[in-house]
Amino acid sequence: MTLTAGNTLISLKALSKHYGTHTVLDRIDLEVKSGEVLAIIGPSGSGKSTLLRCINYLEPPDGGSVTIGTTTIDATKPVERAELSGLRRRVGMVFQSFNLFPHMSVLRNVSLAQERVLGRSRREADERSMQLLTRVGLADKAGQFPVRCSGGQQQRIAIARALALDPEVMLFDEPTSALDPELGLEVLAVMRELAESGMTMIVVTHEMGFAENVSDTVMIMADGHIVEKGPSAEVMRNPQQERTRRFLRAVH
Ligand code: ADP
Ligand code: MG
Repeated sequence: MTLTAGNTLISLKALSKHYGTHTVLDRIDLEVKSGEVLAIIGPSGSGKSTLLRCINYLEPPDGGSVTIGTTTIDATKPVERAELSGLRRRVGMVFQSFNLFPHMSVLRNVSLAQERVLGRSRREADERSMQLLTRVGLADKAGQFPVRCSGGQQQRIAIARALALDPEVMLFDEPTSALDPELGLEVLAVMRELAESGMTMIVVTHEMGFAENVSDTVMIMADGHIVEKGPSAEVMRNPQQERTRRFLRAVH
């Protein structure tokens, strides 16, 4: 939400991904500034999830490069483990399915990776987890098991868990798609607060309200291409491309 302040934090150059002969990402060039909130919208199968997964190398791209901060990974060269863990540590990810550990308390769910990945003591990790659970409005659920939480609460816990590793950027892949609208709203409120706090975010979403009102920039994808990208109000209210107009008509 602070577009003017940011330097480029994420830079994708000619990023490509193929499955067999199917080109899912076709030489994507993209820059995201520090503090920018980018919403990615577009029809199903257009490559949105693949793009997010290639940014943190959950899915290795097969052409181009990904730069986050000072780390660049060139997809055409062998990747070193240290580079990969450096990149992943900078990137938090939230999926449509929350994937919390069912046999651990909410607090342990948020603390575990802090101990394993960042080497924090249990006390330090739990303290940070409590701060984050408070931030997402769930301090009172710390001792509960996830099954006792609603879908919206579970997704907010997943957001706290991702934030606990102090990422520089947060990627969201349709974080509200599995939720009833009412529960989606509480997740969107947490995401809005995060955006307003200056977090750099890339959000794949079907929530046109979020795209228009919270994100700085909207990008439309179709068939592995960027169809259109620009300031959110302009793209949402006055799209330049016929493909964008068609998509927006279909979802409104
Ligand atoms: P979106 O998130 O926009 O719906 P995806 O990135 O999930 O799109 O998928 C883009 C295309 O890539 C789709 O045609 C999908 O079938 C294909 N695809 C995604 N993952 C795989 C995979 N692991 N193997 C083969 N094809 C895949
Ligand atoms: Mg998807």
